[in-house]
Amino acid sequence: MQIAEVAIPVPLHNTFDYLCAERFEIGARVKVPFGRKKVTGVVLAQKDKSHFEKLKQVEEVLDNEALLSNDILEFLMWSANYYHHPVGEVINNAIPKNLRNGHPALIKKPGEKNYKSSSNAFELTIEQIHAINEIVKNLENFNGFLLHGVTGSGKTEVYLNITEKVIQAGGQVLVLVPEIGLTPQMISRFEERIDGRVVAVHSQLNETQRQDAYLMAKNGDANVILGTRSAIFTPMPNLGLVIVDEEHDGSFKQQSNFRYSARDLSFMRAKFANVPLILGTATPSLETLKNVSEKKLTRLTLSSRPGEAILPDVHLIDMRSQNSEALSIPLISKIKHYLGLGKQVMLFINRRGYAPIYYCLDCGWQSECTNCDSKLVYHRSINRLKCHHCGIEKAPESSCPSCRSSSLKILGYGTERLEENLETHFPETEVIRIDRDTTRKKKAFASHLKKINSGESCIIVGTQMLAKGHDFSNLAFVGILDVDVGLMSTDFRATEHLAQLLIQVSGRCGRGDYKGEVNIQTRYPHHPIFNYVKDSRYTEYAKTLLLERKETQLPPYAHQALICANAKSKKLAENFLNEIAQLINKIDIDSVEIWGPVPGMIEKKSNYYYFNLYLQSNNRKELRRLIKTFYHHVDKIKVASSVRWYVDIDPVE
Ligand code: ADP
Ligand code: ZN
Ligand code: ZN
Repeated sequence: MQIAEVAIPVPLHNTFDYLCAERFEIGARVKVPFGRKKVTGVVLAQKDKSHFEKLKQVEEVLDNEALLSNDILEFLMWSANYYHHPVGEVINNAIPKNLRNGHPALIKKPGEKNYKSSSNAFELTIEQIHAINEIVKNLENFNGFLLHGVTGSGKTEVYLNITEKVIQAGGQVLVLVPEIGLTPQMISRFEERIDGRVVAVHSQLNETQRQDAYLMAKNGDANVILGTRSAIFTPMPNLGLVIVDEEHDGSFKQQSNFRYSARDLSFMRAKFANVPLILGTATPSLETLKNVSEKKLTRLTLSSRPGEAILPDVHLIDMRSQNSEALSIPLISKIKHYLGLGKQVMLFINRRGYAPIYYCLDCGWQSECTNCDSKLVYHRSINRLKCHHCGIEKAPESSCPSCRSSSLKILGYGTERLEENLETHFPETEVIRIDRDTTRKKKAFASHLKKINSGESCIIVGTQMLAKGHDFSNLAFVGILDVDVGLMSTDFRATEHLAQLLIQVSGRCGRGDYKGEVNIQTRYPHHPIFNYVKDSRYTEYAKTLLLERKETQLPPYAHQALICANAKSKKLAENFLNEIAQLINKIDIDSVEIWGPVPGMIEKKSNYYYFNLYLQSNNRKELRRLIKTFYHHVDKIKVASSVRWYVDIDPVE
C-alpha cells in the first residue's frame, strides 16, 4: 500500500493522507471518503509515511493519467499560497464542474478546427510592426509588455499577429478578456484569423462544452483559449503566450470564495511557462504603470488610430446652469444634430432602473431596503421598488409610512427613465437600452449588438456594459450623464476608475472615418480630471494620481490585505475583528499597520453586518509573514458559528 496526499475541496488549509492500493499518478483525481461523504480530490504527492494513524483508503482512482500536470499544479499551489486560500478549494475552483464531480475526463464533441478565412486587408502601422517585433524577438523567455494603445488603435490586430506566429511554432495562446469583453465580435476575429482551434470559454457554454474546452486545452488540441478570469487556470502544455486584454478591468478580480486577480496571476503563469506576457489597454491601471516605471514591464505604444479614424472631441456641459435633471438642452440639441446626419448616438448612465429614489415631498421620507443599507430603486416596467443589493422587491407605497401624505415622488434617473424620456423627445428614432435588465436573457445582448452593428441611426442607452471593447462604426456622439458620483466617492481608487471609464466610453465613438464628439454633463466642470480626459491625456493624469498614492502611501505603493467579517449581529462581527486585531497586535512584526475594524462601504447587506480590518505594509514579505502567523493562531479565537469571515489579499474594494 502506498500513501497518497490528497487535496480536498474543504475550507481547511491542510491536505489529507489516504492509503491507496491502486497505482496512481500525481495530479490524478481520486474518490475518497471524507466524514460521512465521498468526495473527489486530487493527489498532490506520494508518500511512504504519514504523521497520521488509521488512514482511510482511496475508494477509486479516477484518472489513469494525471488530470493536472506538474506545471499547472505548481501554479495552483503557488496561487493558493499567495492568496492564503485552501489548496483544495483553489484546485476545485480551477476545474470544470463535471470533472469536479468525478465525470470521466473524456472529450465528447471536439469542435471544428478553423481554417483562416481572412487576413487583414490593410498595412500594419509602424507602431504595430514595432510592437509585434519587440514581442516576437524573444518568444522563448518570460518578458512582460504593456501594449498601451488608445481605443481603436489596433491592439487586437497586434494580438492576432503574434498569436499566428506562436501557433506556427507549435505554441498555445491564452487570451484573457473582461467579463463583458468576450463578445461574439472578439471571438469571430480570432476564429477568422487563426489556423487551428480557437476555444472560447464563456458563460453560455454548458457543462459538457466547458469540460471539452478544458480537456482540449490540456491535450494541446486547442490552439487558442479565449476566456474570462478563471481561464487563467486552464492547463496548456504548450503555452507560448499570455495576453490580458483591458488589463485595467475590475472583472479580473474574483470577489467571492477564492479571491484572486487573474491579471496579477498572469505574471506568474507566464513566468512559470517562461513565455511572454502582454497586458493591453488604453487606460493602464496604476499598478501596471508602476510596473512599467520599475522596468518589470516594457511599454509598447500605439499612439493613434490607424487610417482615418481620429479621437473624438470632448466637451463639458455645466449642469449648474441647467434646469433639467438628466437631459440638458445642449445635449438634446447635439443628439438631434447627429441623428439628422444619420449617425448613431450613445448615452451612458451608470444606473439601471427608472429612478433611484422614491420619497415623500412633505416629510422627506425615502423608501429603503429593510435588509440592506440602501435605497430602493423604482422600476417602471414592473411598477416595483427593487433593492439592487439583495434583490427584494415590493409594490411602491401609496402613502407615506411616516406622515401619511400621499405626495410621493420619484427622484433621479436610471436607464429606464432615460429611455422613456428619449422616446418622447425623439419619437421617430429607435432607442435601444442595454443594461442588466434588458440583457438578462441569454441571446438578448448579442441581438442588441447586431442591431447596433447594422449601422442604422438610433439612440443607444446603457450602463457600463457599453464601455468595453465594442466597435460601433457609425457611432458619432457619446453623452455621459452622471459622472459626479464618481468624483465625490471616498474610495481612493474612484478617480482612477472614473478616468478609465470616461476614456473607454469616449473611445466607443469616432471609429471609421468620422470624427466623433463626446459630451460630459457635470456640476464640477473645474475638476482637474476633465482637463486630462478632454485631451485624452490619461497617462499624465495617471502620473499625478500615482504621485498622490506615493505621497499618501496607498497601493500600489503599499500592500494591503483585508480581513472581512460579517454576521447577523453587528456586535458579533465587530467583536470578532477586535479579537483578531488583538491577536495580530501580539505578532511581532511592526512594519505592518492595522486599521479598523471599520464598517464596510455598505454596512448592512441582506441582513448581515459587514466589518473590515485593514492590514497594510510597504513590505509585502512582512505582510505575508504576518498573515501566515495569524492563520497559525486564529484557531485560538473562539468564533461564533454565525460569524463568517475571509481574508482578501490585494483587495480592490
Ligand atoms: P483595439 O483592439 O486597440 O481597440 P482593433 O485592433 O480592434 O483596436 O482595431 C480597431 C479597428 O481598426 C479594427 O476595425 C481593425 O480592423 C482596424 N485596424 C487595425 N489595424 C489597422 C491598420 N494597420 N490599418 C487599418 N485599419 C486597422
Ligand atoms: Zn412623509
Ligand atoms: Zn436589500
